[in-house]
Amino acid sequence: MADLIFPAPEAVVIPVSGGGFFPVRRIYCVGRNYAEHIREMGNDVREPPFFFGKPADAVVIDGAPMAYPPQSSDLHHEIELVVAIGKGGSFIAEAAALDHVLGYAAGLDMTRRDLQAEAKKKGRPWDMAKGFDQSAPIGTIAPAAEIGHPQAGAITLSVNGEVRQSGDLSEQIWRVAEAIACLSTFVALAPGDLIMTGTPAGVSAVERGDVLEGRIAGVGSVRTSIA
Ligand code: MN
Repeated sequence: MADLIFPAPEAVVIPVSGGGFFPVRRIYCVGRNYAEHIREMGNDVREPPFFFGKPADAVVIDGAPMAYPPQSSDLHHEIELVVAIGKGGSFIAEAAALDHVLGYAAGLDMTRRDLQAEAKKKGRPWDMAKGFDQSAPIGTIAPAAEIGHPQAGAITLSVNGEVRQSGDLSEQIWRVAEAIACLSTFVALAPGDLIMTGTPAGVSAVERGDVLEGRIAGVGSVRTSIA
């Protein structure tokens, strides 16, 4: 063991249904993966999706509250299918990509939309808009061995019981296998990596005290409140 000058941070872990915990290594996100959301943000649907990231310790466990982040007055929800990687690799073939998936969860790519708009305008990175503390509430991981690999199914997000986002996994531009194959040409994937696969239309602002509940048919749910 190395002679650490202070204790290493504790592993960030997400419960897996049926038992055990998934230790999080890195979080990648797909941008612009549903046409209706691309249109609502005023972007060109002919542009391919792309990737950005969040730090692993942005994870908020299901049911726990997240703090309204500083430096923003426009916090948005984005409900997303989260892919939990169980087997690593580089240049993974699309046909073999689903073999690398341990399971799936519902997650929220919380976004400081005001900072993102400013970053876009100035051509600056999105890190401070997307990768802030507690920006990734994620539900329990459902093993692919139990639920299979969902290609279709309702994906919804409600705030205080009112549905704001409603889409279907079948509307994804990059399907899960394609996203894994593409991402693995940029970085070597490893067990513990998470991929948040983009959000359907209906993103909107939340306020302190709001209760958010996301659901993905055949996968599970994620719940948080804004503290
Ligand atoms: Mn997103």
